[in-house]
Amino acid sequence: MVLQDLGRRINAAVSDLTRSSNLDEKAFDGMIKEICAALLEADVNVKLVGNLRKSIKQTVNFKELAPGVNKKRLIQKAVFDELVKLVDPHAEPFKPKKGRSNVIMFVGLQGAGKTTTCTKLARHYQSRGFRSCLVCADTFRAGAFDQLKQNATKAKIPYYGSLTQTDPSIVAREGVEQFKKERFEVIIVDTSGRHRQEQDLFDEMVQIQRAVTPDQTIMVLDASIGQQAEAQSKAFKETADFGAIIITKTDGNASGGGAISAVAATHTPIVFIGTGEHMLDLERFSPQPFVSKLLGMGDMQGLVEHVQSLKLDQKDTMKHIAEGIFTVRDLRDQLSNIMKMGPLSKMAGMIPGLSQMMSGMDDEEGGMKLRRMIYICDSMTIKELDSDGKIFVQQPTRMTRIAHGSGTSVREVEDLLTQHRMMAGMAKKMKGNMANMQRAQGAM
Ligand code: GDP
Repeated sequence: MVLQDLGRRINAAVSDLTRSSNLDEKAFDGMIKEICAALLEADVNVKLVGNLRKSIKQTVNFKELAPGVNKKRLIQKAVFDELVKLVDPHAEPFKPKKGRSNVIMFVGLQGAGKTTTCTKLARHYQSRGFRSCLVCADTFRAGAFDQLKQNATKAKIPYYGSLTQTDPSIVAREGVEQFKKERFEVIIVDTSGRHRQEQDLFDEMVQIQRAVTPDQTIMVLDASIGQQAEAQSKAFKETADFGAIIITKTDGNASGGGAISAVAATHTPIVFIGTGEHMLDLERFSPQPFVSKLLGMGDMQGLVEHVQSLKLDQKDTMKHIAEGIFTVRDLRDQLSNIMKMGPLSKMAGMIPGLSQMMSGMDDEEGGMKLRRMIYICDSMTIKELDSDGKIFVQQPTRMTRIAHGSGTSVREVEDLLTQHRMMAGMAKKMKGNMANMQRAQGAM
């Protein structure tokens, strides 16, 4: 996604400034200008960019900064916080409850990715122990039911639809009633695509909504929606009052800023993002990890969660992170999990600093790099692997031995240890958060 380019540009602007020896107001203004230009180019709404500029300037009031203040830290934090604000609507997304039927209805424009995403979401809940199913209320598009059937069959999700009934609200009601009787816990209703100028179709959407009384309506938005995002999402909000947004195709070339603007225009949280055509290409979204990832600071929560959803071996990493610990062995386990999770380019952004280290590499080169990092870990002693890394600072000759044993260079061993230090620092900051997250996940 071009959002990654946006992240790189913003990051470069902040780094250039914080690296420069002459950190004056002019350089600071230049940085803000560059960040705003990058956001505008990514289709973020002009008003939002204007607000962001004002807020950063207010937070870091350059003229009045006391001499002892760590300006770099302050600037970095202000930029981070403002970007988080941009994607954070301060509203909690809906969480389905176990033991009852939760109805979720999908709405959105034609081709946004609704049918694909509703199967992904059903699979997501299915893998978390919710009995999930799909209802196709798209009677408008020929082949819609077939598409849903195919996806659902592949994902082993029960489905309901009709080839003869032309009234979508009847199909939706019948499907939901049947699945409620069968005590399904997550019932997802797919609807046909519509546009804000199509009043009939908007009326129809309201009728479907009345027929199934969803606990949650989700608007699916294509990341490439651009500047029309605000008007479309506002129209859907006014009519269908959706409570969450899913942004699809974030793996494509779209700039993504339009979708961000939709969040701000409707004060509605993004709950998931679609990252590919495959069933597993759905990631939970939360503002802070998203911005961390955007700025190349990694998304440890997302990584751990992704690994968890794939039921890969997490060993003690979760427990460690909850306690604020992160050993070299934890890093080794995460690296080898990433190798199993595939498209490396997608996963690398989740490990702090790794996407920068791998920028410009294709998946094959990146895979080789990861393998070499794993060889390095495998040449360590048990004591070294289970350490917090300080042992290498105290006895640097260990690095020479490891480089020799793993067929790599001392420089590569140092890089791995830098990587580890960064992640250990993040784990320390996440202490407690992870326990909360695990608790919250129980309810997701
Ligand atoms: P609908 O008309 O809203 O139901 O959209 P579909 O579910 O039929 O999706 C339209 C196209 O977008 C299909 O070719 C999907 O495979 C594709 N698609 C959906 N989500 C994603 C995604 O996250 N990434 C990519 N690359 N393609 C997607």
